Amino acid sequence: MAAPRIPIAKQKFTEPLRVAIVGSGLAGLSVALGVQQHCSDPDVVQIDIYDAAVVLSEVGAGITLWPKTVALLRELGVLDILDESPNEEVAFRMRKGDQSEGVDFYDVRFPKGSPLRLLRAELQSRMLSSLRKGLNFHLSRRVIGLQQMDDEVLLTFADGSTTACDLVIGADGVHSTIRRLAVESEFLPLKTGGTLASGVNALASSAKTQWCGRYAYRGMVRVSALPSDHPSLGVPMRYVGADGQVITYPIPSKPIINVLAMARQEPADEPRTTDAPREDSEAAFAGWEPAVAQLLQVRATCTFLVR
Ligand SMILES: Cc1cc2nc3c(=O)[nH]c(=O)nc-3n(C[C@H](O)[C@H](O)[C@H](O)COP(=O)(O)OP(=O)(O)OC[C@H]3O[C@@H](n4cnc5c(N)ncnc54)[C@H](O)[C@@H]3O)c2cc1C
Repeated sequence: MAAPRIPIAKQKFTEPLRVAIVGSGLAGLSVALGVQQHCSDPDVVQIDIYDAAVVLSEVGAGITLWPKTVALLRELGVLDILDESPNEEVAFRMRKGDQSEGVDFYDVRFPKGSPLRLLRAELQSRMLSSLRKGLNFHLSRRVIGLQQMDDEVLLTFADGSTTACDLVIGADGVHSTIRRLAVESEFLPLKTGGTLASGVNALASSAKTQWCGRYAYRGMVRVSALPSDHPSLGVPMRYVGADGQVITYPIPSKPIINVLAMARQEPADEPRTTDAPREDSEAAFAGWEPAVAQLLQVRATCTFLVR
């Protein structure tokens, strides 16, 4: 949400432009890097990053970066030439896995090469170390309010504190509070008689995430825990079946296989991301081939998928 335009001369020469980035995940850090790449002088652009997290911990399992993302991260100086995408011929091997013995049926190849796969924690740590000085991190600052004032934007945090800035960038993830607050403040004044005009209504409701009926079980399994002829040891795999799929890929330079198992299940009244007992993922993939059961031996994190 941008404050009304302020003459450049004022911004440039009298006070810095105050940019508030809400969220220090991969999106928030990418934006900070992008802004710094154009201007790293804190007297001209002042960047403050606010995150609800108490500590900035580098967490997560494997992450896949597609060629466009890789190109952008190279431009931002996060990835270098050493991070060439693997010279894999097969980006994914498709296998029907929801039966007692699976069968490979298609190899997916991309003309521009396979995606780069690495640990999310590693990517986040590289981003953090690529940031230049002069940027302020504020942890334990959960945004709960966003208010457009005459010539600035006011952010309110859960601890009751507030801050003013010229530009707010919402990078607070899929359940973004900033998106909800921005859309609400934009559209609620248009409400007449309790309803919004159609079209506007659809846009306003897009601020809310919706349960899509799927869970994703995420985790990593040690290479040594799998039999030497396991299909996932060779190439990235996509085991597919009715109402479910399991995606796996090796993390280069680490003896681990990333596992992402998605299944349609009844929604449970639980937090969106939680530790999932092994029995849950096993039940979701009951009847699938043994290679899939061997992958699900990981103690997974379960995420509700939203759309
Ligand atoms: C802990 C974690 C682990 C993940 N692990 C993986 C993985 O292993 N593999 C994979 O492919 N993807 C993973 N993801 C997802 C992936 O990183 C993101 O979905 C994707 O990169 C988009 O990033 P993002 O920056 O938009 O959002 P996110 O990565 O979700 O970051 C959003 C940030 O905003 C902060 N935030 C949220 N609400 C507020 C608020 N109201 N006020 C202030 N701050 C707020 C959160 O604390 C978080 O740091 C993970 C995400 C998280 C948060």
